[in-house]
Amino acid sequence: MNEGTGWAGTGADDDGSDEDRALAFTVSTVWREQRVSCPHLDILRAWRDGALAAEAAEFVAFHVQEAGCPYCSASLDELTARDDDAREAPMQDLRDRILRSTVGALRSQRK
Ligand SMILES: [Zn+2]
Repeated sequence: MNEGTGWAGTGADDDGSDEDRALAFTVSTVWREQRVSCPHLDILRAWRDGALAAEAAEFVAFHVQEAGCPYCSASLDELTARDDDAREAPMQDLRDRILRSTVGALRSQRK
């Protein structure tokens, strides 16, 4: 197994051998590569808060914990970080609103 090209070249080109692709064809890699079943951010939040129905919670738990989806893990981290921000920095929201209204004013001036 030390010969050959290994995983080098699994870059942008899609012409790689189909056999390599078949070997890597597992549920988790498909999920990771294509993000087929990534639940919506609201679902992730509800799951984290324990607000999901058992069936849905099971699905999300499998997706995040068993399949180890890095995207959803990152989203969950972000959700937690954002919640902390919301608690500690109400100024952020104010700044956000000001920024938005400024952008809106700039846009309406253009035309
Ligand atoms: Zn995911």
